[in-house]
Amino acid sequence: MVRKLFRNARIYTPRDLGEPLRGRDQGSLTAFPEGALLVEDGLLAAIGPEKEVLDRVAGGQLCQEVDLEGMCVIPGLVDPHTHMCFVGTREREFQMRCEGTSYLEILAAGGGILSTVQRVRQAREEELLAETTGRMRKAMAMGTTTLEVKSGYGLNVQDELKMLRVIDRGARLAGADVSPTFLGAHAIPPEFKNSPGEYVDLVVEEMLPRVSQQGIARFCDVFCEEGVFSPDETRRILRRARSLGLGLKIHADEIKDTGGAKLAAELEAVSAEHLLAASNEGLKAMAEKGVIAILLPATALSLRKPYARAREMIQMGVPVALATDCNPGSSYTNSMLLVMALAVLGMGLSAEEALVASTINGAYAIGMAQKVGTLEVGKQADFVVLDGETPWIIPYSLGAQSSVRAVYKRGERVS
Ligand SMILES: [Zn+2]
Repeated sequence: MVRKLFRNARIYTPRDLGEPLRGRDQGSLTAFPEGALLVEDGLLAAIGPEKEVLDRVAGGQLCQEVDLEGMCVIPGLVDPHTHMCFVGTREREFQMRCEGTSYLEILAAGGGILSTVQRVRQAREEELLAETTGRMRKAMAMGTTTLEVKSGYGLNVQDELKMLRVIDRGARLAGADVSPTFLGAHAIPPEFKNSPGEYVDLVVEEMLPRVSQQGIARFCDVFCEEGVFSPDETRRILRRARSLGLGLKIHADEIKDTGGAKLAAELEAVSAEHLLAASNEGLKAMAEKGVIAILLPATALSLRKPYARAREMIQMGVPVALATDCNPGSSYTNSMLLVMALAVLGMGLSAEEALVASTINGAYAIGMAQKVGTLEVGKQADFVVLDGETPWIIPYSLGAQSSVRAVYKRGERVS
């Protein structure tokens, strides 16, 4: 057995209460100011005040002892909403947007999501794999040890399956825990421009069964938005997904309130994501069903839009998670540190609330809470050593990578 002791740490962790944390629990952390962690074969065997942990060690052999020099230790960050499987950036489009060009003009100039679809379709699997794995590794260096990656730039059977394969292979190469999500209903592909209903038929009748047969995706997500997929189409796709054993997610009420939040509650989806325009009624329904709100403040910042109403959501009892939305159009970042800083500085969360949102609630949002999201006995030894004394160092550093000293995945240092 590989046994490692990490001592002289200031440990801050949420506690796993068996469901996503909400309301007052959203901001509640357990602290061990003079703490230690004992790791056995990558799992936490003991955690708490150093004296108690040392009693557990007594007599047994240790393979390694690490002095963390009084620095703050938090659980490895969880990023539960990304589109980081793609090829090529869209910097030029970002520049045009900053210069005031409208989205329609950008589309006419060959930009927008369909330009990424074209590049992903053309890409060889190895090329897509290299870029995707690179992004996962960069995310890990910034403290993200578990993440979700969505498909959705293939938009046909073959390329959606290719993306899911790449996500799975990339996770193993990077050494991250990754939850793959099928997002065939991300956009209407150009070949179905004049018959979008037929594309929904394709997703329901052909793609979903093939995705289920492939066995990589754990969740199915739909971009429910005016001009993309209607609530009725979303319901149809997600019902089929559920019948095939997939968990449900919705890109809901990002631009307009189309009832996406309410639909997420009706279908008892695990999460509704974005929610910039969600109605109070929709949020109330989410609170009643315990649907997690995944908020993406880096997207709002990049699009220069107001942030989602996180404070009100917490007050209403909606469990809140945070994510990067890493994608080549509206949020080209894979830094959960930045996202946490924006949550504190832009959305009014405390660093404690932002940490819960970036660990255990994110883990619940992708079905991984049994192994990650908190530092508790039996869970994986995934943790981040910060260059500060409390989690407040993250927003205080404006999300800079310099706030991270070291990142451990299953007890192994990865950065
Ligand atoms: Zn998204």
